Amino acid sequence: MCASCRTVQSHARLACVVLFDIDGTLLTGPTTGPSAGVEAMAACARTVTGQDGLHRRVEFAGRTDRQIARDMLVASGAASPSPHQLDAFVGRYVEALRSRIGQRPYRPLNGVREAVRVLHDRGAIVGLGTGNVRLGAQAKLESAGLADLFDLDRGGYGDDADTRDEVLRVGVSRCDPTGSLPVIIVGDTPYDVRAALDIGALCVAVPTGMYDAPSLIEAGAHRLVAGLDATLADELRDLLP
Ligand SMILES: [Mg+2]
Repeated sequence: MCASCRTVQSHARLACVVLFDIDGTLLTGPTTGPSAGVEAMAACARTVTGQDGLHRRVEFAGRTDRQIARDMLVASGAASPSPHQLDAFVGRYVEALRSRIGQRPYRPLNGVREAVRVLHDRGAIVGLGTGNVRLGAQAKLESAGLADLFDLDRGGYGDDADTRDEVLRVGVSRCDPTGSLPVIIVGDTPYDVRAALDIGALCVAVPTGMYDAPSLIEAGAHRLVAGLDATLADELRDLLP
């Protein structure tokens, strides 16, 4: 690409919705030991069921908080947890998360702040598409010092729907009620990728969480980047029609 074209591209507006996953994409837990979120889930499962270690029998990455709660209750022997039981579990989880997060804070992944700031500067509508319930998402973003980058009213959360694709649909509708803009999902798990494909969105995957690059490509990611930084805007520009 010629230098002048590159200059034009660097200032090109981004007419799109970009939804970010949170865990493993924007932020991560302490360098050693479980995150405050995992600790909180484990503590709730112990309190509700009387059983230890249920959190080690379910998958967390890419799942919604309600899915994780349901999986742990089923693993304890509960036949089919009711919506009321899941609501109560998740409410208890948020309290446990808040009480632990000061001792085990989250930290932003390298380059995230620059990546999101440039998207705002270029006119993209930036939101969240996460399995965290809204209050959990807020607590984690505040802990990592990233809350100022996001308007929480622009997002889909684990308390909006039971499946990740529906969570993303809700997030998109809150960002772009007309549904006219292209949508790009940024996430770190095959669950993010598949949900993006399910709603007809583009997906940029980052191998900064529990999954490596080949598994994200195999899931169908349109673009894989090693990590987030200020060049994300150009990556997205290349992807858009
Ligand atoms: Mg994630």
